[in-house]
Amino acid sequence: FDMFVLAFVERLFRPTFRKDDFVLGKKLGEGSFGVVYKASLSKKRGSEEGEYVLKKATEYGAVEIWMNERVRRACGNSCADFVYGFLEKSSKKGPEYWLLWKYEGESTLAGLMQSKEFPYNVETIILGKVQDLPKGLERENKIIQTIMRQLLFALDGLHSTGIVHRDVKPQNIIFSEGTRAFKIIDLGAAADLRVGINYIPKEFLLDPRYAAPEQYIMSTQTPSAPSAPVAAALSPVLWQMNLPDRFDIYSIGLIFLQMVFPNLRSDSSLIQFNRQLKRCDYDLNAWRKLVEPRASADLRKGFELLDLDGGIGWELLTSMVRYKARQRISAKAALAHPYFDRQGLLALSVMQ
Ligand code: ADP
Ligand code: MG
Repeated sequence: FDMFVLAFVERLFRPTFRKDDFVLGKKLGEGSFGVVYKASLSKKRGSEEGEYVLKKATEYGAVEIWMNERVRRACGNSCADFVYGFLEKSSKKGPEYWLLWKYEGESTLAGLMQSKEFPYNVETIILGKVQDLPKGLERENKIIQTIMRQLLFALDGLHSTGIVHRDVKPQNIIFSEGTRAFKIIDLGAAADLRVGINYIPKEFLLDPRYAAPEQYIMSTQTPSAPSAPVAAALSPVLWQMNLPDRFDIYSIGLIFLQMVFPNLRSDSSLIQFNRQLKRCDYDLNAWRKLVEPRASADLRKGFELLDLDGGIGWELLTSMVRYKARQRISAKAALAHPYFDRQGLLALSVMQ
C-alpha cells in the first residue's frame, strides 16, 4: 500500500504533459503496437527545453507505462529515462497511450554494430575521444568487455527488480550520451513476475533472431496473470523454478557472439547461425568443431579473441548460450565471471 501512495505523491509533483505540448520530429521506429518519434516541447511550455522521444502505442501501451514507472523507481539507470505516460484518447481503433522519455542519443547498438569501425566507434563514444593506439585483438576485447559489462549491469538491475525484458536485441539497446553507457529500451514485451503482470498479446511474436529456444518463458502450468497478492507471494518461488531471466541471458549471449564475429552481424548470417546451432543441438562447442576447420578470416579472428586469457571469453559465451535455461549463467553471476577481471575502458581513461 505504501508503495502506491509514494508512487502517487511522487507522480503528483512531476510535470505533466498533454498532446498539444509536443512538436513531433523524425520518426524513429514503427512496430505493430506503436509509432516512435523524436519530439520537442512546443513554445507554450515556455522555458522547458530538451529533446524527447514519444511513443504512441495501442492498448498494450498501458502495460508498457506500468513497466516504465516501475523501472524508473527501482532501477532507473538500466533503462532510458522515462518521463511520463498517459492515455491520450480513445478512437474507433481503441485507446491510444502516449509514452515519453528523455532523448538519450542517436546511437543504438544495432547502428553501431553495422559500422565497419565497430567496436572502435564505441570506444570513441564511451571515452569521448579518439584513442591514438594501434588496433588489435586486445583492444577490441577490452571494448567488447566494457559493452558486455554495461549490458549485464543494466539487465541485472531489471532482473533484480523482478522484470524479464523478453526482447533484448541490439535495436533495443541505446547509448546514453548523458551517462556514456548503454541502456536497455522498449519494455513493450516485458513481464513483471513479482506482481503478476506477465502479459504478451497473442499477436506478439518474440523476435526469432534473438529468442532463446524455449517458447514459453514461464511453464505453461503457471497461471498467466494471477491476482496481485497471490502472485507477490508465489513469484519468488516461480522465479526460482522457471528462471525466466535466463531467456534474456540467451539474447545477450547472441549479442556477445555478434560483437565478436563480424561475419555474424547481419540478420541473414545470424539466422543462418541459429539454424546451424539448432542442428548442433544448441551446443556451441559442437558448432565450433563444425565451422572452425574451414573458418573464414573473420571467424578465426573471433575465436582468437574469445581464446585470449586462457579462453575466458569463450567460457563466458558458452555459459550464456545454452539450450537449458537453468544451465545458463545469471546476469549477476556473469558480472562476477573472470572474463571481467581485466580493466575495462573506463578504468583506462581514468588512468590517463
Ligand atoms: P518499437 O521497437 O516498439 O518501435 P522502441 O521503444 O524500441 O519502439 O523505439 C524505437 C526506436 O526509437 C529505437 O530503436 C531507438 O532507435 C529509438 N529510441 C527509443 N527510445 C529512445 C530514447 N529514449 N532515446 C533515443 N532514441 C530512442
Ligand atoms: Mg524496439
